[in-house]
Amino acid sequence: MIFARATNNRKKLAEIQRILHALGHDAKTLDQLGIDIEIEENGTTFEENALIKAKTIAKICNMPTISDDSGLEVDALGGRPGVYTARYAGEHATDDENIDKLLASLEGVEKQDRTARFVSCICLYFPDTDAHISCVGTCEGYIGFERQGDGGFGYDPVFMVGDKSYSQMNAQEKDSISHRGKAMRMMAEKIKSLSL
Ligand code: IMP
Repeated sequence: MIFARATNNRKKLAEIQRILHALGHDAKTLDQLGIDIEIEENGTTFEENALIKAKTIAKICNMPTISDDSGLEVDALGGRPGVYTARYAGEHATDDENIDKLLASLEGVEKQDRTARFVSCICLYFPDTDAHISCVGTCEGYIGFERQGDGGFGYDPVFMVGDKSYSQMNAQEKDSISHRGKAMRMMAEKIKSLSL
């Protein structure tokens, strides 16, 4: 299986490989295959973007390809940033700039109104039949008032589940409750049931 993911987020890639390995699967990355491609994620949903990524790479490699598209939905912001999560503070925004913008957008919003969820759509695409399987995992939480913890990546320091941020959880803890962990486990079940 190939994992269709641009090489820019090594921590996210490491997290995906860790979850896949725990489930007894392995995937080659684009880096490992020497493929350097920028895929335009112009879908309007996580599902569409995940399919765009998996299909594009599968067509190049002619192998089943798995992809992930994820993002944050903040209730007080009407579900934003959603599919714009990676570019919330601009096209090439850093994690810090995105977090700063998010905290500024929620200035004055009380804890009970800071509810949010992380969503991950994992897509497995088969180039020979043009079939695909999608699994969506979500993790409900809220946006903290400031950064907490120093592990992880992306919005981890401000995404709170109970009294801990994703950043304050160890790898196993995060994988057991995270949007991506849930979506990957669902995908593993589907793969098993299809005897792939
Ligand atoms: P993409 O799926 O690579 O397009 O990423 C979407 C955005 O969501 C990026 O800004 C990621 O940093 C962020 N993101 C996705 N999953 C996580 C997570 O588990 N923790 C923190 N940020 C995440």
